[in-house]
Amino acid sequence: MSRRAKIVATIGPSSNSIEMIEKLIIAGMNVCRLNMSHGTHEGHAEVISNIRTASKNIGKEVAILCDLQGPKIRVDKVDQNLILKAGEEWVIGPSHVQDKYPEYKDNFIPTVYKDLVTDSHDTATILFDDGLMEAKAYAKDRDVLKIKIVIGGELKSNKGINLPDVNISAPSFTEKDREDLLFGLRHDVDYVALSFVRTKECIKQVKYLLHKLKKNTPIISKIEKPEAVENIDEIIGVTDCIMIARGDMGVEVGNHLVPGIQKDIIKKCNEVGRPVITATQMLESMTNNPRPTRAEANDVANAIWDGTDAVMLSGETAGGQYPLEAVTMMSDIIEEAEKKPSERPLLRHMDLESVSSSVQIAASIIGEKNNAKWVVAVTQSGYSCLKMSRFRSKMEVLGVTNSLAVIRKMNLYWGITPYYFQENEADLSALQEQMIEELKKKELVHNGDKIVITHGDGKFFRQGTSNSIRVEIIKDVPKEGTKNKDKDVFLEENIDNGRIILDTALCASCQACIHICPHDIWIKNENNDTIINANTAKDCAKDMECVAKCPTGAIEIISTDI
Ligand code: PGA
Ligand code: MN
Repeated sequence: MSRRAKIVATIGPSSNSIEMIEKLIIAGMNVCRLNMSHGTHEGHAEVISNIRTASKNIGKEVAILCDLQGPKIRVDKVDQNLILKAGEEWVIGPSHVQDKYPEYKDNFIPTVYKDLVTDSHDTATILFDDGLMEAKAYAKDRDVLKIKIVIGGELKSNKGINLPDVNISAPSFTEKDREDLLFGLRHDVDYVALSFVRTKECIKQVKYLLHKLKKNTPIISKIEKPEAVENIDEIIGVTDCIMIARGDMGVEVGNHLVPGIQKDIIKKCNEVGRPVITATQMLESMTNNPRPTRAEANDVANAIWDGTDAVMLSGETAGGQYPLEAVTMMSDIIEEAEKKPSERPLLRHMDLESVSSSVQIAASIIGEKNNAKWVVAVTQSGYSCLKMSRFRSKMEVLGVTNSLAVIRKMNLYWGITPYYFQENEADLSALQEQMIEELKKKELVHNGDKIVITHGDGKFFRQGTSNSIRVEIIKDVPKEGTKNKDKDVFLEENIDNGRIILDTALCASCQACIHICPHDIWIKNENNDTIINANTAKDCAKDMECVAKCPTGAIEIISTDI
């Protein structure tokens, strides 16, 4: 069984070469994340081109996620690092007013966010550098906020500022985000992530813009503000995916609350089938070490058991010393965690929403009950595969489509193996045959395997609803030199008052007959083909057990008894 949960890895200086991206794809990276908080458009364009080249070289498509910075508040450039000591009084204000206040020259913390002071209140908590330093406001003085340092440290340029108890007036989607989004769309990114979303309006605004541009790039909402946690239901209602952005969330709400929030959000997303990514510091120590801590390994496994669709690496792969080891380790931990049976939503509690999702679920159950090898979900938009993901099918699911964009997108879908199939037959049944032949050639199916195919009406990849299920038993996989495919070959043996016939063109070599016959009438030859044993054929009791067991109707027993 292949790995079900997916891996998102951030690409940065440690991982942006074609060579390293190839290695990461082979190691199991499904989605590449570009962090727009860093770098230039030129640099990102080169990385995107490297990702597409690496995919082509390896023969495996991956998705690209363009992660927009959002209204991240930062310290502006300072000539010298600021040494903050507990108990000291400082002021914080927008950099452009700094020169207006010579009296604060030596204790001024400049910020890039021009509305920080107007948004803040007199007792606001201010956190610096991922919460490493803390200050408390006590008064406003015109354009600046007076603060007292609670936990000190060394503050450098560009470090993040979090204001957990302040309502930020800046829109979640900034002017820079707009430019970055347009850049991403020009380069056909597969997902776009919005940082610091607070309400459903933040997402709807971007959806509207995408709509106007005639794009349907899925939106990932990053949950990292207390307001987003409060508004999680309405956000899940309008977004395509969720990211539990534990970095800023931990700073804003306190690390002790993050595990519970993670569990709650995953549960809510699972209920409605919204893919959810658990992010940040999952294997943090691997930034500088080839092995993670025990706690980190536990964290990844527990996120899988919580039901996350994907887990994410940030600095570990973007700037760390061991990007390849981090992806490999993550993949190993997931595979091991997935050996424990996972919970899946109870059918009777599921709102099936659509014909397509009912069809997918039914196909999955048929597959499970019949020990099928694959559910082959033929999809035009990926929608049916998303529905299958939601059901947490125990089946291996091949998401077959003729669109590269859909292949890439499905890389985030839990339990779906995307499969690109270029159609060149016009009618549905010819296409099915063509696809099955291809699966045989690629050795994804073997003689005797059952596959459950789901598809819509008419043309294979027509946009619309999956409304059909077909169970196919794989037979007659061409084996070098063993069969003449153009000619039916019948094996026959005479028995008392009758005849046993095997149609080798139909035989799936599943060996069901070999297992059932107590007289060893069915045996394998040196090519592993099933044949009739001429020495024992006369013992046939004509109880027809083998005929009943044969899945393909290849066996016939003719009785001339009166
Ligand atoms: P970031 O988002 O890395 O863009 O800040 C993730 C997080 O905050 O956890
Ligand atoms: Mn963040």
